[in-house]
Amino acid sequence: MKAPVKSSASSSRANSIATARPAPRANEREDGLFAQLAEHHHEQVSLYADPAAGYRGIIAIHNTQLGPALGGTRVWNYESDEAALTDALRLARGMTYKAAVAGLNLGGGKSVIIGDNKLKDREPLFRAHGRHVESLGGRYITAEDVGTSTADMEFIRAETSHVTGLMGKSGDPSPVTAFGVYRGIKACAKFRYGSDSLAGKTIAIQGAGNVGYHLAGLLYKEGAKLIVTDIDAGRVQRVVQECKATAVASDAIYGQQADIFAPCALGAIINDETIPQLKVEIVAGGANNVLAEERHGDELEAKGILYAPDYVINGGGLINVNAELHGWSLERAHNKAGEIYDTILRVFDIAREHRIPSYLAADRLAEQRIATVSRVRQNFV
Ligand code: NAD
Repeated sequence: MKAPVKSSASSSRANSIATARPAPRANEREDGLFAQLAEHHHEQVSLYADPAAGYRGIIAIHNTQLGPALGGTRVWNYESDEAALTDALRLARGMTYKAAVAGLNLGGGKSVIIGDNKLKDREPLFRAHGRHVESLGGRYITAEDVGTSTADMEFIRAETSHVTGLMGKSGDPSPVTAFGVYRGIKACAKFRYGSDSLAGKTIAIQGAGNVGYHLAGLLYKEGAKLIVTDIDAGRVQRVVQECKATAVASDAIYGQQADIFAPCALGAIINDETIPQLKVEIVAGGANNVLAEERHGDELEAKGILYAPDYVINGGGLINVNAELHGWSLERAHNKAGEIYDTILRVFDIAREHRIPSYLAADRLAEQRIATVSRVRQNFV
């Protein structure tokens, strides 16, 4: 499967504007590389090649106003260099917002390595990437992402200290992520029902993998009734046995008569096909990029379904990485992930106050924090 790559909508628009006007000066061009950076205010893009190592990498830094840009390294066989750049830019921007709403002192960045992520001899590639990361002097910190493993991070570590997610350090982030999702679901319940108790609520979980499994355990302990699906029968069975969940077929999960739908598997599952099937009052889960398009967030709103923005509710994974960077205990990481409860309620308050959908309110909250912190730091001290 290809990674979702949104093409830059602005480049075609910019091209048509450019042809209709007199030729702009070099620093005003709207169709070049800098226009792509300017579109979403990216600070920096770094390209680095090491042919002997088979390395072609892009590091995109979106924003460092809160701290060093952090984001994983993705290895993917992109259709083109442009597609790789677009993905790096889009993912880096997402990291800025995720870190900002999680209350972390981190900015947003991401790197992509163009190539086959099943490559056997990985040392040259990841050491070259480590040198690329090192060349940025700490403005960017990397971690695992699609197509990379903790072993790859060790190769990077040989060349730079600006890497996290190392073997034997913070480990599997999913228990912290699941705890944050659990707290976020409770906040949704508080907002929708006036009480955050999940006892007796029916919750449909899509995906019984790392996050879904841990989430199921927390919800079951609180007395929720669970419905679960996964394409892996063994994973479903584990949740059925341990949490008395009811198993349903993959396609049937959307139409379940439940209070809450918790997507914990794939992205883009809130879309034109699934929204008409939903009978729930809340959509809140761990998966990334849940909305196929932003307009689907508007459609949930129109249907009266409360949506917990994905990057707010699943911020526990990033909190876990931050914990490793700063040597936090697991307890401190859990406490920080627990704050997602208050953050989700703030998002809903902003949405209500400004009459905007929750996914936009989350962006506002992130932008507010970046602006506030940046203002405070203007003074010479
Ligand atoms: P995982 O691979 O452990 O679990 C995903 C599960 O979804 C697997 O069991 C898989 O079989 C199942 N699945 C795949 N396609 C499905 C389908 N069509 N229907 C039902 N089930 C399907 O991954 P994870 O670490 O649990 O992450 C789950 C989601 O949460 C992903 O979107 C991930 O990006 C996001 N996320 C995870 C973390 C984390 O800490 N692991 C942090 C933030 C966000």
